[in-house]
Amino acid sequence: MKEGLTMTDCIFCKIISGEIPSTTVYEDDQVKAFLDITQVTPGHTLVVPKKHVVDIFEYDEELAQAVFSRIPKIARALKNFDPRVKGVNIVNNNGEVAYQSVFHSHIHLLPRYTKEDGFK
Ligand code: ADP
Repeated sequence: MKEGLTMTDCIFCKIISGEIPSTTVYEDDQVKAFLDITQVTPGHTLVVPKKHVVDIFEYDEELAQAVFSRIPKIARALKNFDPRVKGVNIVNNNGEVAYQSVFHSHIHLLPRYTKEDGFK
């Protein structure tokens, strides 16, 4: 739950520290991108700031620059990794009313495929 959450019980902070395993797609000093455990589409990736912020309402200009400037590069990497990737949905849920379930800010990158490739 959002209330009472600290960095010590945040699942994404534990992924960033390496306490919980993940498959890294991209990493630098401010940002980590890793495969979503659910894989709504193959290659479904989450891009997170290493600094623990709950949602977009807590971003300052510097953090916004760090996170959002990486999105095109990571999207290109997903597309280049698999030639079947023809597009990408970029989704960011903020707040329980917006269906956020993990309260460490994250951007979903959902690679999209043609029906012929077998993924919706
Ligand atoms: P929703 O659950 O409605 O998609 P969010 O936008 O908060 O809400 O997304 C949280 C995402 O975190 C989910 O897609 C979920 O599969 C993913 N997730 C939860 N635990 C892990 C984990 N240990 N490793 C990778 N992804 C995770």
